[in-house]
Amino acid sequence: RLHEFLVRRQAPRRAGEERPVSRLVVLAGPTAVGKGTVAGYIREHYPEVLLSISATTRPPRPGEIDGVTYYFLTDAQFDGMVETNQFLEHATVHNAYRYGTPRAPIESAIESGRSVLLEIDIQGARQVREAFPEARLVFLLPPTWDELVRRLTGRGTESPEEQQRRLETARVELAAQDEFDAAVVNRDVGEAAREVVDLMTLS
Ligand code: 5GP
Repeated sequence: RLHEFLVRRQAPRRAGEERPVSRLVVLAGPTAVGKGTVAGYIREHYPEVLLSISATTRPPRPGEIDGVTYYFLTDAQFDGMVETNQFLEHATVHNAYRYGTPRAPIESAIESGRSVLLEIDIQGARQVREAFPEARLVFLLPPTWDELVRRLTGRGTESPEEQQRRLETARVELAAQDEFDAAVVNRDVGEAAREVVDLMTLS
């Protein structure tokens, strides 16, 4: 099973389709693969890249700051943003809380020629591809499945039921990697971050 998700794949483009310079990159991948860590590394070391701040109905974890980690919203506030079309994409993740990408900051960054990185789940990645066909979808892979399980259970912030739910989600998510334009293996955070940034800047 291992080699199935270690293979790097490049999705074929449709015949005759021009490949534009991609400035919107979606970083997706199974839960606990380290998307947040890679995105955080990019925010710190590549300040030219705008890292989108999502909205969520999940309560903050210790240390998370409203407006920095996420915009923490009530259900009613989230509904309001959905109704007024303020999300580029939104989804319920792990059958629990809702998450969404605010549209306005992304559109103004793209207009001003700045690269944008979205760290979102796979349902969201699919919606972004519909809205922005020129977006580049990057799938972050764990070095091995065992390593993914270790990272998931080792984090210690979720209950056993929640861990189980996330593992099940991860299995389903791994199966979606063929839909992506590129895959990056997260062996070393700095290397993975550089590969993602290269995918934003190299055509
Ligand atoms: P967490 O609750 O651990 O911060 O995030 C849970 C999951 O929600 C992660 O897989 C993360 O990628 C996803 N997520 C975070 N923000 C967004 C978003 O704006 N849209 C979507 N679709 N998923 C998101």
